[in-house]
Amino acid sequence: MDLTISIPPSAETGVAVARSKGELRDALADVRSAGRSIGLVPTMGYLHDGHLSLLRAARAECDFVVMSLFVNPAQFGRGEDLDRYPRDEARDLELAAATGVDLVYAPSAEEVYPEGFTTHVEVEGLTDVLCGAPGRRGRGHFRGVTTVVAKLFNAVGPDVAYFGQKDAQQVAVIRRMVRDLDFAVRIEALPTVREPDGLAMSSRNAYLEPADRARATALRRALLAVEEGARADSLAAGLEAGMKELELVGIDPEYLEARDAESLAPVEEIGERPVLVAVAARVGGARLIDNVLIEA
Ligand code: AMP
Repeated sequence: MDLTISIPPSAETGVAVARSKGELRDALADVRSAGRSIGLVPTMGYLHDGHLSLLRAARAECDFVVMSLFVNPAQFGRGEDLDRYPRDEARDLELAAATGVDLVYAPSAEEVYPEGFTTHVEVEGLTDVLCGAPGRRGRGHFRGVTTVVAKLFNAVGPDVAYFGQKDAQQVAVIRRMVRDLDFAVRIEALPTVREPDGLAMSSRNAYLEPADRARATALRRALLAVEEGARADSLAAGLEAGMKELELVGIDPEYLEARDAESLAPVEEIGERPVLVAVAARVGGARLIDNVLIEA
């Protein structure tokens, strides 16, 4: 956009980068006072086409696009993949520049969680199921997500924030947080971007060995089998057909469940309200998730 901000684009990557809340605030002050709309795309980096679809939507709809780049330690449990989570900041910044991002906010963990940090945002109920159930990632995962997203909303003050439907539970939880805490931001959830063979794009796909990469396509087939069975027969029959698709390639999922897409309450049958069918499974070295939304 035709507005100069206090941080110049980097000569190497072509995009302006703020490393601290202060830099971010200064850079956004002029944007805000000029009355420009701000779009925010939160990411943990290692960008793929799923992320780029969110950035493109923000670019098309907002005057000023901020991408956050932060591997949020608070949303990783003990024994999870925080240390090996793939990172390539230089490439991410180049992709952000090429996609028309105006400003990247890439703080350190100390900047986000300074010494003595003790305040958290927790959405109850929706975070106890699916990935939040005990023995899975647990509700602490979503507490980490909502806390960092609330902080990003406060630091950036976006008009619109963009999320991927691939993380459907995250979308439901963030929508509830926004409603309950009166955040003045519109949440846009965009469709899951897939590889040609149907596998949902994910930074964690980098963990897959070739044989597991091939098996992982069963997740999408299972979800489509659930939808087909539910439409043709019953949700129970669909879920059974979905489980069979997973069994065929030796995947024992953490869950394959149907729930109300907004409240995440269990559902017995498809009806008026959108039904979320979600799956999570460990495939080789990666824990993968995917889902399909069944609308009447
Ligand atoms: P992450 O970097 O994994 O935290 O993801 C950042 C944002 O990109 C989240 O809103 C994700 O839901 C979204 N996202 C991740 N994978 C995809 C995908 N395959 N299609 C669309 N959005 C995605």
